[in-house]
Amino acid sequence: MNNTYDAVVIGGGPAGCAASTCLALKGRRVVLLEKEKFPRYHIGESLIPYTYYPLKRMGMLEKMKESHFTRKYSVTFVSRDGRRSHPFYFFQHLAHEAARTWQVLRSEFDQLLLDNAREKGVEVIEQITARDLIEENGRVTGVRAVTAAGESREFHAPMTVDCSGRDALTISRRGWKVRDPYLNKIAVWTYYKGAKRDPGLDEGATTVAYVPEKGWFWYIPQAGDNVSVGVVAEKDYLYSDSRDPKEIFHREVGRNKWIEDHLSVGRQYGPYRTTGEYSYRSRYCAADGVILAGDAFAFLDPVFSSGVLIALRSGEMAADEVDRALTDGDYSAQRFQKYGDDLCHGIESMRQLVYAFYDHNFSFRKLIEKYPKMKDDTTDCLTGDLFRDYTELYQAVSDFAKVPEALSHGRPYAPEVAVARD
Ligand SMILES: Cc1cc2nc3c(=O)[nH]c(=O)nc-3n(C[C@H](O)[C@H](O)[C@H](O)COP(=O)(O)OP(=O)(O)OC[C@H]3O[C@@H](n4cnc5c(N)ncnc54)[C@H](O)[C@@H]3O)c2cc1C
Repeated sequence: MNNTYDAVVIGGGPAGCAASTCLALKGRRVVLLEKEKFPRYHIGESLIPYTYYPLKRMGMLEKMKESHFTRKYSVTFVSRDGRRSHPFYFFQHLAHEAARTWQVLRSEFDQLLLDNAREKGVEVIEQITARDLIEENGRVTGVRAVTAAGESREFHAPMTVDCSGRDALTISRRGWKVRDPYLNKIAVWTYYKGAKRDPGLDEGATTVAYVPEKGWFWYIPQAGDNVSVGVVAEKDYLYSDSRDPKEIFHREVGRNKWIEDHLSVGRQYGPYRTTGEYSYRSRYCAADGVILAGDAFAFLDPVFSSGVLIALRSGEMAADEVDRALTDGDYSAQRFQKYGDDLCHGIESMRQLVYAFYDHNFSFRKLIEKYPKMKDDTTDCLTGDLFRDYTELYQAVSDFAKVPEALSHGRPYAPEVAVARD
């Protein structure tokens, strides 16, 4: 068995599929290791318009258009007392078919991505768990993995792309996780059948409904009359009188009239799910022979549904960098400086608005009333055009909310810096 490749990709979510597919499209020999057997459940169901571009590059657009995923044209906000804002329609801002995006069932979406990777030439192996990075003379040269049957296997390549999601293999093995100091939230969510849907174009809208203590509900209508609904807030607040996810969920439903009303005619099904360990970013984005993408690099509070976009974009950006590294025969961490700069910049664009969202003094309405010309920048950012300059926008936002300093970490590993920090 030839176990030597141009690149080993860990994880078959959006980041891993984007990285491996883009590398295979460039003629590289790639193996993707996925610990689960697909289809498997995953949260992260609401896409934003700019996911269109990486999906197009991967050859996924036709599959998306043929799918039964609910069309999403807009996002709308609901106040604590249940009043709903006028929906914000993406097509009013973006005159492109990208403005029509999707609410996906991740089990099916990720299966489509993985099948597409296979079609494009990626060797996909499921039910195999990457346990460790193989290192030779301080450089990563592959991955040590174990199959579901307990058999150990090694995969060798000059470059490894870690797309292991929130399991974050490299981060956890190397102690690189740095939590966001402020975005200390948890989420509790479940599913309903037959809950209320708004008519016409608004049927597939994401609704973000506020709860009193720096928190919010998502309400995501999905295919087959299903709705994904969850609440995100400070841990101390959500766990204030119970740790039972079902009790917490229903307590919070009772605190937003719009959510309560919409769920009243539906039937809850399946488990009540929770996740903690909210926003974090890796101290480093790469070391010699390994590069991190998607949630394996950073996770940002999902209030603006940016996770899948960042996973796809970082996957394709990593693929471009890895392709160049293979051409040059240079796999040193430092060559991924621009990757780290660009990716951190893109994540910061969203992070500034996420901070503002949680500031009681801030609202998009107030911002646009005072600075009408910021409407375009705000919209560009929220639709996912993250990799441009938003300095003016943050200045305007800072009139209402404390905007955070950009995080300085997330660049390639540099031993002398690491020693100084430790
Ligand atoms: C509560 C919540 C709500 C969210 N809502 C949204 C939303 O509405 N819209 C949105 O865009 N994003 C949302 N997200 C974020 C989104 O889920 C993620 O950002 C996105 O899935 C990241 O993709 P990824 O490919 O990096 O990781 P994943 O999708 O997690 O994929 C990682 C893959 O790696 C595999 N894996 C892990 N470890 C190993 C290993 N050691 N060996 C082999 N395989 C491994 C896993 O099985 C998995 O299939 C939400 C997240 C949370 C927590």
